[in-house]
Amino acid sequence: MDGCARRERALAGRSILAPEALGPTVTVGEILVEIMATTIGAGFLAPQSLIGPFPSGAPAIFIDQVAKIGGAAGIVSAVGDDDFGTLNVARLRDDGVDVSAIATIAGKPTGSAFVRYRPDGARDFVFNITHSAAGDTRMTEAARALIARAGHVHVMGSAFAIPGIAEILLEAIAVVKARGGSVSFDPNIRKELVQGEAGRRLIDDVLAATDLLLPSGDELLVAAGEATEAAAVERLLSLGIGEIVLKRGSAGSSHFSTAFGRVDCAAFSVEEIDPTGAGDCFGAAYLTSRRAGLPPAAALLYANAAGARTVTKQGPMEGVSGKAELDRFIAAAGREIDA
Ligand code: ATP
Ligand code: MG
Repeated sequence: MDGCARRERALAGRSILAPEALGPTVTVGEILVEIMATTIGAGFLAPQSLIGPFPSGAPAIFIDQVAKIGGAAGIVSAVGDDDFGTLNVARLRDDGVDVSAIATIAGKPTGSAFVRYRPDGARDFVFNITHSAAGDTRMTEAARALIARAGHVHVMGSAFAIPGIAEILLEAIAVVKARGGSVSFDPNIRKELVQGEAGRRLIDDVLAATDLLLPSGDELLVAAGEATEAAAVERLLSLGIGEIVLKRGSAGSSHFSTAFGRVDCAAFSVEEIDPTGAGDCFGAAYLTSRRAGLPPAAALLYANAAGARTVTKQGPMEGVSGKAELDRFIAAAGREIDA
C-alpha cells in the first residue's frame, strides 16, 4: 500500500494494521539468556552472586507476549545446541510461539547477557551476542515458510546490531507487505547507528514501510529528525505512518494518528523491581490488541497494563501476561476497558 492509500484508510477510521486472520505476527532477532547480579553496584570486576539463566532477548520477549495475550506468533532466530538454547525454545513453545524458524547452530553457544544495576538505575552489561548462535541468524527455508504465511512483521531495532539481520527483515517486510500485511517498528535506536549514513538509510527504509511506530524516550525525535514531540509526530504521520505510540515509562503512553488524533493513557501505579522488557511487552500487547480489532484507547490500556506487570517481576520475560491476567489487573486498579 502506498502512503496515500494508507492515509485514506486511516482517515476512514479503519486500522491499517493487518487483522489477525491474515497470519501470525513474525519478528526476527536475538534470543539470549540473561544472568543478573543479585546486588546493586558497579559491574562484574569481583566475584559475586548471580541469578539466572532467564529467557531473554528483546525480539523474544516481544513475541512471547504476543502469543501470551492470544495472537499467533513466530520468530526467526538461532540458538546453540546447549541448555541456554533449550530453555529459551521451551519457554517460547510453551507460551504458544511458533518455534519452527529458530535454528540450532552446532558449535556456537546461545547468546547471553550479564547485567548488574547501579544505584542510579543505570546498567552494566557483559554481552555475548555477535559471536553467539544469534549472530548466525539466517534466512533459512523454515524462516521463508514462516514469513510466507505471516500477516505482520515487527522490527526490533536492537536486532540491527547483528550483521545480516537487516537483510532478513527487509525481505520479510517486502513479502508480508505484498500479501497485504503490516509492519511495526520499535526503534531502540542507538545514536551510533543513526550517525552512520548506512544506518540512517536503513532506519528510513524501515520507517517508509512502518504502519505502527513504537518509540520511547528521544527515539521519536531521532526517528523524525525534529526537535519537538509535536513536530516529530506531524512529520512522521505525514510520511504515511498510520499510528505512533510513544512509551513514557512510569508516565504512561500516548497514541497519535490521523484517524483518532491523540489518545493518552496514564501508567498503572506499581512497584518497579526490574524494568527490562517493559517496552517489549507493551508493544506486543498494543499491536496484538489492535490486530484483534480493539480501538487505540483499549489497546493502550492493555499495553500499559502489560508494561506495568512486567516491571514488577525480576527477569525480562517473567512478567509476560495472559489476557485474563491483564483483565484482572485492570479491574483491580479500578480502570475500565473502553472497547
Ligand atoms: P525498555 O526498557 O524495555 O526498552 P522502553 O523504554 O521501550 O522500555 P518504557 O516507556 O520504559 O519503554 O515502558 C513501556 C511501558 O511500560 C510504559 O509506557 C508504561 O506503560 C509501562 N511502564 C514502564 N515502567 C513503568 C513503571 N515504573 N510503572 C508503571 N508502568 C510502567
Ligand atoms: Mg525501548
